[in-house]
Amino acid sequence: MSVIFLKPQFKYRIWGGNKLKEDYYSIAPDKTGEAWLISGHQNGSTEIINGQYRGSLLKDFYLTNPNLFNDENKDQFPLLVKLIDAADNLSVQVHPDDKMALEYHSLGKTECWYIISATDEAEIIYGHNALTKEDFITKVKNKDWENLLRRRKVKAGDFYYLPAGMVHAINKGVVILEVQQSADLTFRLYDYERIDKDGKKRELHLAEAIAATTFPQQEYHFQKASKKINSNLITTLTDAKYFKVEKWDLKEQIKTENNHYTLMVFLEGSGTINNEYYQKGDACIVLSDAKEIEIIPEEKTLLISANSK
Ligand code: ZN
Repeated sequence: MSVIFLKPQFKYRIWGGNKLKEDYYSIAPDKTGEAWLISGHQNGSTEIINGQYRGSLLKDFYLTNPNLFNDENKDQFPLLVKLIDAADNLSVQVHPDDKMALEYHSLGKTECWYIISATDEAEIIYGHNALTKEDFITKVKNKDWENLLRRRKVKAGDFYYLPAGMVHAINKGVVILEVQQSADLTFRLYDYERIDKDGKKRELHLAEAIAATTFPQQEYHFQKASKKINSNLITTLTDAKYFKVEKWDLKEQIKTENNHYTLMVFLEGSGTINNEYYQKGDACIVLSDAKEIEIIPEEKTLLISANSK
């Protein structure tokens, strides 16, 4: 049993849309903001849906079968992979690093985004312009969000690395695949003064957000490296502290080594992976007892893979 497939966990979000339902999962409820595809997190562990381990939660399966996870010896499944459909702006937020997250009995949250689709005007918030903490606090107090927050236009195929401590938001009209440390801890800095149907604003966590933020903003440039194997193209999107993420554009059969264990999400196409059928929207893990990954696409396939580090 070298490949386990996982059942998505759909999460209702006030800002969620219907794109995940329209494009990937016909069973997803309306306003599904997030689909957790590969998760061992206590707030929504995904379940194995094939083979001899069917019915097991990844959270437990990871701990009881270290040999299938390259004996990496962590006390919880380290990564979380999800799809996010932002039909409205998400709050402006920041996540703590491992050290600060300890107080909350959580891992820190470094994350990265592969942009699946974006409307013409779509933007993200990616960092801030304050030079010092004092400057940041002043701009927050004055609600000077225009000058404080850095905006970027995004398009399908873009990739962003967001270390813990980086202020960010996904704005309206963006669908992303996110690979992150397995944490569910967010400090909300600004929520556009929005009120819900009961006239309430969502809670902000200003002190925590300011404590978690890195000053000044650091720049992240990563030279994407691609390798061509016949007519297939594998592009390394990031290879940083917690994870390595790659994009696979496949037109024909490919066979590569599986050095560790490999998380995969199929964004386009269908075919087989180590003799198991896959289609668009599927998520799986090639366990470390498989020394090779063999994919035979029936249709042109786009997949994103992630390895923990
Ligand atoms: Zn985030």
